[in-house]
Amino acid sequence: MDRVDVAIVGAGPVGAALAASLVRDGRSVRVLEARAAPSRDARTLALSHASRERLEEAGGWPAQAATPITEIHVSQKGGAGRTLITAADQDLPALGYTVAYSALEEVLEARLAALGANVSWGAACEAIELGAQAARIRLSGGESLEARLLVLADGGANARRLPGLAYSEKDYGQVAITGPVHADRPHRGRAWERFTPRGPVALLPVGERYALVWTAAPAEAQRILALDDAAFLAELQAHFGDRAGRFVAAGPRATFPLKLRTINTPIALRTVIAGNAAQAMHPIAGQGLNIGLRDAAALAAILRADPACDPGAGAVLEAYRDSRRRDAGRGVAFTDFLVDAFMDRRRVVTWGRAAALTLLDLVPPARRWLAGRMIGGAPSP
Ligand SMILES: Cc1cc2nc3c(=O)[nH]c(=O)nc-3n(C[C@H](O)[C@H](O)[C@H](O)COP(=O)(O)OP(=O)(O)OC[C@H]3O[C@@H](n4cnc5c(N)ncnc54)[C@H](O)[C@@H]3O)c2cc1C
Repeated sequence: MDRVDVAIVGAGPVGAALAASLVRDGRSVRVLEARAAPSRDARTLALSHASRERLEEAGGWPAQAATPITEIHVSQKGGAGRTLITAADQDLPALGYTVAYSALEEVLEARLAALGANVSWGAACEAIELGAQAARIRLSGGESLEARLLVLADGGANARRLPGLAYSEKDYGQVAITGPVHADRPHRGRAWERFTPRGPVALLPVGERYALVWTAAPAEAQRILALDDAAFLAELQAHFGDRAGRFVAAGPRATFPLKLRTINTPIALRTVIAGNAAQAMHPIAGQGLNIGLRDAAALAAILRADPACDPGAGAVLEAYRDSRRRDAGRGVAFTDFLVDAFMDRRRVVTWGRAAALTLLDLVPPARRWLAGRMIGGAPSP
């Protein structure tokens, strides 16, 4: 039976970035990924400058495919007030960057191959047994292996089967419609966040176009998805307004269900739960992967500090849990607050939001605070 220091279930961006760091640090690692081929996932991710640095450090930053975000315009439909957060205001070259999930996947996969990492594709984790000395994992092909530390970075597929682990879920009753959209005006690096009573709409600059994230109730989303391009663009224009120009072309669309899901604790016997497997949230504030990459960086830093340590020892797991509690909790709370606060249709709340947005626009420190939190910004681990 194969025995390794660390088995990572899931080669999504969090599992792959963690694997690249641990392999480079000399740990024996095996990555188990259910997919046999690249996912070609259609989502676009907004990542913070700190996430870029973390991915560069892991050797997995898709520089050619990244678009800088230099401004974020935040407004609400049906109410006054708006705020503009700019990179210049924050003395930064960019507030963040957009990258396609598939581009990130590709560059991380190439990095793992270049490092000679032991990655098993088409190897779904089917069963897990936790023991005092090691975790035993059974794969879809029938093979079993043992690891001193098991990291679940599988988006949440396996944790609920383990003793002591449970998820809390909050269904926002929304799905995200994503896809490329072209406007007749250049974006000049500006991202748009528009809150509407039917859910937030975001336009993220990607290359010469935008990536759209349009949230809507499931039945409404199905209707929108079925529209032809001309009807889709007309409806988007009516919903979003003309601040970004006239929408002239749209590409293939995909949908993603939106839920807040958090785990009661990110550790179990010989196990760490990281990335979306620990906390999955609404994409409105671009927090999910940014927090997941901080999970990976925190674990890698703890193991790097003592290269001879047993990676699954209780002290390591507790240090990981304690280092992540505050940051992950804040990201979840901030996102949940934004979704709830901006979906409240009461008139008094609309006025309150208008006042808050105006205030943000007038008070540079408040804007800096918001800039620090949007696109997953937060303290370093
Ligand atoms: C529409 C949308 C927009 C988003 N926008 C942003 C954004 O702008 N910024 C941001 O920071 N975040 C964003 N997110 C969140 C972000 O996509 C996630 O936080 C991120 O993908 C989490 O990465 P992960 O590696 O933890 O999990 P995943 O990306 O879910 O990867 C999990 C991997 O585990 C594999 N797997 C699953 N089960 C098994 C198994 N049994 N055995 C082996 N492998 C398995 C899967 O095949 C997959 O490759 C967005 C999400 C959505 C839906």
